Amino acid sequence: MPARRFFVRDAHRAGEVVAIYGSDAHKIVNVLRLRDGDVIEVVDSHGSIFAATLESKAGELQARLGEPRSAPSPRVVIDVAQGIPKGQKMDFVVEKLGELRVRALIPLRSERTIVADVGSAKLERWRRLAHSAAQQSGRTDLLAVTEPLPFAQLCLQFPEYDAVIFPWELAEPQPLREALPAIVADATRILVVVGPEGGFSHAEAESAKAAGAHLVSLGSRILRTETAALAAVAILGYELRL
Ligand code: SAH
Repeated sequence: MPARRFFVRDAHRAGEVVAIYGSDAHKIVNVLRLRDGDVIEVVDSHGSIFAATLESKAGELQARLGEPRSAPSPRVVIDVAQGIPKGQKMDFVVEKLGELRVRALIPLRSERTIVADVGSAKLERWRRLAHSAAQQSGRTDLLAVTEPLPFAQLCLQFPEYDAVIFPWELAEPQPLREALPAIVADATRILVVVGPEGGFSHAEAESAKAAGAHLVSLGSRILRTETAALAAVAILGYELRL
């Protein structure tokens, strides 16, 4: 991970000037001790990477973008729908899925979701954590944290994926090692759907299956909700040689 790589919001073009704030500005000025005219790398939310020249204006740090060199688009895209857990547990999920190569995290409202409402402050916090996780792991695109989605609506999105993997502790206990190759063969868009603390109901598992999901077991032990997605994505990474 280049020490001089910084992420900014939105999509940008060569010639634009972007403002750099907060801890990024602090790092540039006080830690890296860079000055006007020095060059950093700026990554926008579409994953374009720009060489950018620092210039400050009225005490605010800015960077003027040069020509972008696009990041190669990933061979396989993995999205995760995560049953919204209680308290701060989603922080862990965001952080770990941000380090792994998950494209989007969809906070999922299902029958046994306890959290009534995800406020905008919480969404903002998750998006900030995704930002630091990307910086930490050297990925050029950010983990996108989408607006929360109800279970039924998520099922309607299954056709957008080549494979939908639905870890369910009550699924037939076939080892994933055996089941996975056929499920993900030739898949380039994969969705993993994980339940909240209380898991999914039988009715939900049935409707997911009817909508095309593969119900799979992650082994004989019950994993905590915040462990399940991490385990599933790590296993997928192995299988798909990511
Ligand atoms: N309903 C259960 C546990 C839910 S665990 C209970 O309360 O006892 C939360 C989520 O993690 C589940 O919905 C499932 O998606 C996933 N999960 C945990 N352990 C699993 C396993 N052994 N196999 C498949 N999925 C698992």
